[in-house]
Amino acid sequence: MVYVGCGLVGCLVLMSVPLIWPSYRVQSNWLDLQIVYFGMSLIITGSWYWYQYWKNRQIDLFVNKMQAVQQGKLIGGYIILRPGDPMQKLANVINDVQQVAQAQRAEMRQQSVMLQTLMKHMPMGVIRITANHVISELNEQALHILRLHGVVTGRPFENIFRQHQLVTLVQTALTQKHHQRGLLQFEHQQVDVVVIYDTEASRHAELVVLLYDTTELVRLQNMQVDFIANASHELRTPLTSIAGFSETLLAGAHEDPETRLEFLQIIQSDAQRLLSLTEDILTLAKQPSRLVQPEAIKLAEFMTEIIHQNEPEIVAHALQIHNDIPTGLIVYQDPINLSQMMINLITNAIKYNRPGGDIWLDAQLIANLVEMTVADSGIGIASNQQQRIFERFYRIDKSRNRKIPGTGLGLAIVSDLVDQAHGTIDLTSQMGVGTTIKITLPNMK
Ligand code: ATP
Ligand code: MG
Repeated sequence: MVYVGCGLVGCLVLMSVPLIWPSYRVQSNWLDLQIVYFGMSLIITGSWYWYQYWKNRQIDLFVNKMQAVQQGKLIGGYIILRPGDPMQKLANVINDVQQVAQAQRAEMRQQSVMLQTLMKHMPMGVIRITANHVISELNEQALHILRLHGVVTGRPFENIFRQHQLVTLVQTALTQKHHQRGLLQFEHQQVDVVVIYDTEASRHAELVVLLYDTTELVRLQNMQVDFIANASHELRTPLTSIAGFSETLLAGAHEDPETRLEFLQIIQSDAQRLLSLTEDILTLAKQPSRLVQPEAIKLAEFMTEIIHQNEPEIVAHALQIHNDIPTGLIVYQDPINLSQMMINLITNAIKYNRPGGDIWLDAQLIANLVEMTVADSGIGIASNQQQRIFERFYRIDKSRNRKIPGTGLGLAIVSDLVDQAHGTIDLTSQMGVGTTIKITLPNMK
């Protein structure tokens, strides 16, 4: 309105020129000039008005841009002005600010995505707690370890955590304003808890609680310790026997030919036991580091070869072997692992069979799975023992097995190999009737 007013005043001034300067009226056509003046003043007023309008629009654009930068809503491109525009410098500065802000926001977004991915996939629970005790963030693993369900964020940790020791540890970190660490026992879990007192996160201190479930680690460590204890014990028994009998022989027993032969046979059998024990232990130790190399294997022929290797024992027990594996069946497996599994199952089927008994071998392909069964008509396994026979060094009733040599590692090796191949093992057995073990492995074609 101000601009229009100025324009009209300018127009009136121009129109009044002939009135102030009378000679002008005489020399010119007064009315025509009035029209020209009026037109000119309208153009000037309009231009002025347009210039102001255009400048205001530019300022609005700059203001909108800066507000968008401030709020992080960076929609649209950069400000482009005509060359020589007086606002060019300001536009350049705003464009630079926008560019820097955009880059910073992109980096922040990337960092936040990375942090979220890290929180989601890290093998430990993470919980953020504000200075006023409220849980602000936590990941799935934390929910799982603490057995929490439903919405927990936005609520005080004292109302959420059911583990008294954890509440105490977090409270101690808050009161002492210092990191805390503890190995806590939650029902059946052992959890290593680290409470980080973080003063740099924001103006107010906040806590980050890290929960690392060490149950499986402790179980594996215990298993290792048990294994070493068992292995040493198993090695010690035949070694003590060898040492004792050889000492007695040297002390004079060798002079009696009968005693000498008996003792030497015992020494040989114990040495044999030591050998197979160390071989089994080595197999177990090597398994995880061995690179699996699948090959096309003609299964029927492969099994015939294993049976052939055990021919003396089969003949000694007068056993009948029924190899029902289809002759053309080809499986894709690692030959070393497969033969280890099959040797262990077949030797069991031989050892724990009755004299004149039977052994049935069968296999089939179901989709991408190979199913292989070894069945025998032997002494069978009681149902309460069926899970335990896969444990390392476990032998059913040692007195039953006294005459049958073995270390109790055969089925543990089979079970480990099946696990490594992501397969399954099924056992059905009946006392005095026989045992069937079925192994199902993915065909590695
Ligand atoms: P190793 O195989 O290490 O020489 P092992 O045969 O005693 O010794 P495993 O093959 O692990 O050890 O078997 C564990 C126990 O399970 C055996 O001692 C035996 O009592 C029982 N068992 C295994 N297979 C059969 C079977 N086919 N019939 C009856 N009992 C079996
Ligand atoms: Mg065995």
